[in-house]
Amino acid sequence: MPGFELFGDAERKEVNDVLDNGVLMRYGFDGMRNGHWKAKALEHELEAQLKVNHAQLVSSGTAAVTIAMASAGIGSGDEVIMPSFTFVASFEAIMMLGAIPILVDIDDTLTLDPEAVRKAISPRTKAVMPVHMCGSMANLDALQVICSTHNLILIEDSSQATGATYKGKPLGSIGDLGCLSLDFVKIITSGEGGVVVTNNETFYKHADHYSDHGHDHVGNDRGAETHPFLGYNFRISELNAAVGLAQLRRLPEFVAIQKKNYNILREALSQIPELKFRTVPEGGEESYSFLSFFLPNLETARIASDSLKEGGVDACFHYYDNSWHYIRKWQHLKDLKTLYPLSKEVKEGLKYLETKTFEQSDAYIGRNISCLIKLSWTEEEVRTRASKMVDAIKSAL
Ligand SMILES: *Cc1c(COP(=O)(O)O)cnc(C)c1O
Repeated sequence: MPGFELFGDAERKEVNDVLDNGVLMRYGFDGMRNGHWKAKALEHELEAQLKVNHAQLVSSGTAAVTIAMASAGIGSGDEVIMPSFTFVASFEAIMMLGAIPILVDIDDTLTLDPEAVRKAISPRTKAVMPVHMCGSMANLDALQVICSTHNLILIEDSSQATGATYKGKPLGSIGDLGCLSLDFVKIITSGEGGVVVTNNETFYKHADHYSDHGHDHVGNDRGAETHPFLGYNFRISELNAAVGLAQLRRLPEFVAIQKKNYNILREALSQIPELKFRTVPEGGEESYSFLSFFLPNLETARIASDSLKEGGVDACFHYYDNSWHYIRKWQHLKDLKTLYPLSKEVKEGLKYLETKTFEQSDAYIGRNISCLIKLSWTEEEVRTRASKMVDAIKSAL
């Protein structure tokens, strides 16, 4: 990861198909486009690869999360349970709809702790959104039981785990709705882009219309289409979809390369008895985008993170001190710094963040280091990296 490392002829060819006729928009202009429908083709290939009935391409992963929730009728004052360790997009997407993000602890999977989810359910809870961080997944069986017991929508954010599976099913295809990101630093990229996937026909129709100003997409005269409900513009362009199409076809190849590199590094780190790998739920297979592990405590993780950098091992993250991915440094959220007034419901709904602590998450994130697995390394580079990692980590213990 990321897929851009291997950008090449396949991506260029798909983009050139679009440039040859100049139809940069995904809808309409049937006569001009010489049969090229890159967004539609990518949606069909996503449906096949993810084994899901419907895929709706949109402008970003953040938009995909907003659209998924809107499609399921989540909005003003509704509570959505999400993890304390994720990307800022998770709460941004929820707040976009006037809904309230309820942050809860993660466990040793580095994703939602089902017990913490259960405790956070209130009469206003509408959805649970696990975020499959760093190439692996939440315990989806446990979350499905909670959601069906309490009649809640399960929305998977699989932006960081495209290509991973749980009990044989691709991540994103298991919940009521799933979201993928195709931004520039994900395992496959379209430059910018996102996907909503679902087996629910109604949710799909909602996502299709909502992401294009509420257009019903009936017939082939765009100007004559009706608007069953209000929407917005979250469309992807044909140029972006073209890149994504080439990259999706390479997803199995990317996962295989990552798996090979991951296994070399994992085997080397297995010699360190104090180091424990993250837990992958039973039946899960990672996308091998990251190798994530825990050291004995915050102190040793901090020292190891510094020694990895000093030893020339790049792309290893100690998220405890990171402002993009972990609640500890999301001061702008805790202080509700917005450009515009927030609704009373959201302000009141987020008051809990002034006092809530996340000791359990701190304990896991404080001890965790996650290292990116790249596609472009040679085997020799991976082996050199493995021994540098072992040295750097041992020196911290
Ligand atoms: C990247 C990412 C997103 C959003 O993706 P964009 O396409 O950049 O908007 C959402 N959730 C997670 C966990 C991500 O890593």
